[in-house]
Amino acid sequence: MSQSELQLSYQQFTDIFSLTKTATALHLGEDAVIYAANDAMLKVWGKDKSVIGKSLGDALPELVGQPFIDMFKRVWLEGLVISGSDTPADLEIDGEIKTVYFDFEYRAVKDTAGKTICVLHSAIDVTDRYLQKESRERIKEKEEALQREQALNEELAASIEELESVNEELKQSQESLNQINNDLEERVQERTLKLLSSNDELAAINEEMHSTNEQLLHTQESLENMIIGLAESDARFQSLVKQAPIAITVLKTENLLIDIVNNKMLEIWGKDSDVQGQPLAIAMPELQGQPFLTILQDVIKTGKPYFGYESHAFIIRNGERVEGYFNFICQPVKNGSGVTDSVLQVVTEITDQVTARLKVQKAEEMTRMAIEAAQLGSWNIEPVTKALQYNDTLARIFGYEGIGPMTYEQAINQVTEEYRDKILTEIDKAVKLGGNYDFTYSQRRFNDDEIVWLRSSGKISQDDQGAYTIFSGVVMDITEQKRDEIRKNDFIGMVSHELKTPLTSLSAYMQMLQLRAKKADDAFTTAALDQSVKQVKRMTTMINGFLNVSRLESGKIHIEKNRFNMADLVKETEEETIALYASHQIIFHPVEPIFVNADRDKIGQVINNFISNAIKYSKLGTTVQVACISVNGMAQVSVKDEGIGIGEADIKQLFTRYYRVQNYDTKHISGFGIGLYLSAEIIERHQGSIWVESEAEKGSTFYFTIPLS
Ligand code: ADP
Repeated sequence: MSQSELQLSYQQFTDIFSLTKTATALHLGEDAVIYAANDAMLKVWGKDKSVIGKSLGDALPELVGQPFIDMFKRVWLEGLVISGSDTPADLEIDGEIKTVYFDFEYRAVKDTAGKTICVLHSAIDVTDRYLQKESRERIKEKEEALQREQALNEELAASIEELESVNEELKQSQESLNQINNDLEERVQERTLKLLSSNDELAAINEEMHSTNEQLLHTQESLENMIIGLAESDARFQSLVKQAPIAITVLKTENLLIDIVNNKMLEIWGKDSDVQGQPLAIAMPELQGQPFLTILQDVIKTGKPYFGYESHAFIIRNGERVEGYFNFICQPVKNGSGVTDSVLQVVTEITDQVTARLKVQKAEEMTRMAIEAAQLGSWNIEPVTKALQYNDTLARIFGYEGIGPMTYEQAINQVTEEYRDKILTEIDKAVKLGGNYDFTYSQRRFNDDEIVWLRSSGKISQDDQGAYTIFSGVVMDITEQKRDEIRKNDFIGMVSHELKTPLTSLSAYMQMLQLRAKKADDAFTTAALDQSVKQVKRMTTMINGFLNVSRLESGKIHIEKNRFNMADLVKETEEETIALYASHQIIFHPVEPIFVNADRDKIGQVINNFISNAIKYSKLGTTVQVACISVNGMAQVSVKDEGIGIGEADIKQLFTRYYRVQNYDTKHISGFGIGLYLSAEIIERHQGSIWVESEAEKGSTFYFTIPLS
């Protein structure tokens, strides 16, 4: 492009340009040689007139690497218009690179043939407008973020409320579950006891019967001797029979004439001595249709004795029909010519014993039926040989379909690894020390390998010599309850986890605000924020508690042991505690260096829990004492308060999940009953012990020990 092709002279151009306030320049060729530029453009570029005639790249070397030189080239070659607004460009102004924002246009100016003759470049510096807009946007964004935070906070409050109601629900179902378990346990124990006592009774009855039988045999022997010895002396024989302390009669011939009968026998028959000389069938017409007349006649006929054992008979005794059970012997008696013509009968009434035994058998049967109806598996383990007996329901619960009976070893093998050693220890303990056995565990079913949850409870009882011989009990399938528990637990874990995120951000904002308020010397806001931070900390501790319970239940709690000095941990706790509680006098006794190998955070958590409970459950202004000493190779921490104390019945359950003492004093103190449960689990995982010594109304001392490093 040559100057001669332009309609206007260069001077005319520049004159026109200088009239406009808009920064304007004309460029020629691919390299955007500056043909003309008005003062406004020179100002934008931060350059003087010496740039005229130079390519854009030479005139403004800082543009190399930015997109503008290429854009010029495209506009020149392709005859385009490229424009932009709020476009940043880095320009060197007064020797310094600055970012300037432009609304700009590169426009190809064409001749009548459509050929590009130059590029008209106009630009408006909109840096101020842009920066203002930016800052307005940032303010708006901040406002929006704040609104979002507010919404989150509201959400948080709602979720916490929900969590509390879930917890309440959980607590209630837990309580009703406990109630059901306790009821069931009581019922089972009652039945087991009944069963055991009936067993004892039965054994006694059997023994008695056994001795009665022996007595009878003995009697029979002596009778035989008597008969032989006294056959010739009838009178003597008769008087002997009459005086005998057992019921005896002698019946003669096939008519069974009552030849001799003693008082004992008359008592059993419920007849008087008039019956003597009568045929038995006449004296006792009720015997018709019962087997005894035939039996007696057969003895005479065959000459063979007969033993009746627990024979059932009914007799009209003094005009009244009575039923009874009898043992008897029918002994054939020979006359002088050696022919059997009589039968001597000795009878013992055993109605009481048999009825008692039948009663026991019935009770046993009822217990068995109750166990079946309750879908309880029942078992019996021989303490020494470990021989196992069980009912059908147990086999079904275990999914056992084997051919022979299931052995103790087979049953134990199905217990999941997590519980196998524990159940063996529990059984061992019950067998050696006696008392109750109650264990909840999981095992694999024999037939399909499915995991089932079982609760097994039983009792070991002593025999007469004091040896533990009967170890028996029941087992029930609690898989559904356990699954329910797992689902609730997962839900709590999830909710607590979700709650933690907004809480963390809330806490961060509050700390920022706290700093600002302190800087601005705003005493009220500072104090209000101090309180808020404390409350958020409390809430975080609570949520962490739930999270930990949930982790614990699902076996995900992680203990990370490191060697550290308990004295340092107690010192840190002291600093935190003193800052947190002004309501009580808290005395920290001096601690010698005591090294342990433990999870520092979790042990800290246990100490904090002891202290916060001591404060929570004692009156304002009372004293709490914290000590840490080393005893028998263990580090022992104790927290003593002068508070409401704990009754004996509650102490036993204090460390179980969700357990809270329910009385007038604790009614208005809030809590979830998980602190001590978590503490106990943490200490157990350190092979330590945890316990409390307490007296209602006087105060409590909570202790834990963990091994020294
Ligand atoms: P929470 O205090 O949240 O209920 P914990 O598991 O920490 O849960 O305590 C369980 C229960 O033990 C409490 O509800 C309370 O009844 C009782 N308890 C704990 N510490 C003390 C104490 N120092 N004095 C009296 N009772 C206590």
